[in-house]
Amino acid sequence: MFDFVLRGARMDGRDGPHDIGVAGGRVAAIAPQLPEGAPERSAEGRFVCTGFVDAHIHLDKAGILDRCAICAGTLAEAVALTAAAKAAFTPDDVYRRAETVLRQAITHGTMAMRSFVETDPRVGLASFEALSQLKRDYAPMIDLDLCAFAQEGLTQEMATCDLLIAALAGGATSVGGCPYTDPDPVRHIDLVLDLAERFAVPADFHIDFDLDPENSCLPALVAAVKARGLRGRVSVGHASKLSAMAPEAFTRLALDLAEADIGVVVLPATDLYLMGRSADRLAPRGMARADRLARAGVRTAVATNNVLNPFTPFGDASLIRMANLFANVAQTGTDAEVAAAFAMVSEGAASVIGRARPAAPTVGEPADLVILDASSGIDAVRRIAPPIAGWKAGRQIFERPLPRLFGAAPVAPRRSRH
Ligand SMILES: [Zn+2]
Repeated sequence: MFDFVLRGARMDGRDGPHDIGVAGGRVAAIAPQLPEGAPERSAEGRFVCTGFVDAHIHLDKAGILDRCAICAGTLAEAVALTAAAKAAFTPDDVYRRAETVLRQAITHGTMAMRSFVETDPRVGLASFEALSQLKRDYAPMIDLDLCAFAQEGLTQEMATCDLLIAALAGGATSVGGCPYTDPDPVRHIDLVLDLAERFAVPADFHIDFDLDPENSCLPALVAAVKARGLRGRVSVGHASKLSAMAPEAFTRLALDLAEADIGVVVLPATDLYLMGRSADRLAPRGMARADRLARAGVRTAVATNNVLNPFTPFGDASLIRMANLFANVAQTGTDAEVAAAFAMVSEGAASVIGRARPAAPTVGEPADLVILDASSGIDAVRRIAPPIAGWKAGRQIFERPLPRLFGAAPVAPRRSRH
């Protein structure tokens, strides 16, 4: 009856361990005890979810620290160093660095991601070609949404528009803008939304990436999204400006974002590293409070952004670690708050990039299953619990054995957790 049964799985929303029966790549049944006969694996009472969703990552510019001499550690320097480095990107070079990060992400339980793809006259379509090949090669392991991205602006360099069109015509599944590098941010937003409408893809903006509480680009985006009828089709990343706004202004903008159904992706590692560089003490956190946005009805995610480059010279593509970092920085520690942080790297993140799916395994859905060495999503975030095995559409894609101690007293038997 089943191709495979995962036994003894704890899932959010169900009491006690359950068995998950998989058939034809989908979850076919969930019950406290399924019949024997199919190949099986025991989760031994551990937490099982459908894997994580990285709503915002840059695979193509990961792993370039050896080519960049970081001095100031500012956003302006990161943009300049990376712009210079990418002129030397080749498809082979991008593929190799991106693959390293992608493999790490998969073994950290990530099952879907949106990767921005630098698309401009410096790099041409080299990044797009490489990531398109990577997407095809890793399709059995991860769903990759490629977002053709104008990192360096548009209105002052319209050749970028033709390259974005070429990438979208060649299979890019979303389009990204960066108003903060454009001399005309509002026109930039309009040009990117034009492309989103023309190719019927979602749009995603790097926006408000500073700590000036004034001069937000978000009201212009909200107005454009409403006027064009693009509710639910647009998201933004960073929005660190929100962390500098007075509570009343923050709340007004949060309600506007909710009404326009614009998703917000917070990128704690990058915001913490780049923001507030002018402070000689008590540096601001510079991270938008996604938890408060969520309470106002905004779809929210927490994501990786960059790995080992001038924007973020750290990283391992682990989303459970990023959810933990977010919760630490946001000073959120109750069970409800930590559950919200878990949602921001799982079903909330899926919703932000238009791939709605529950975090808990569900009958009829694809059998994307990750075992974590934890008892719940909350427990996993609190302890940065490692994923130990994963299946994509019912096929096992990774195994990450737990550490073993030698010569110590044996641990209590696991069955005590059932
Ligand atoms: Zn980014």
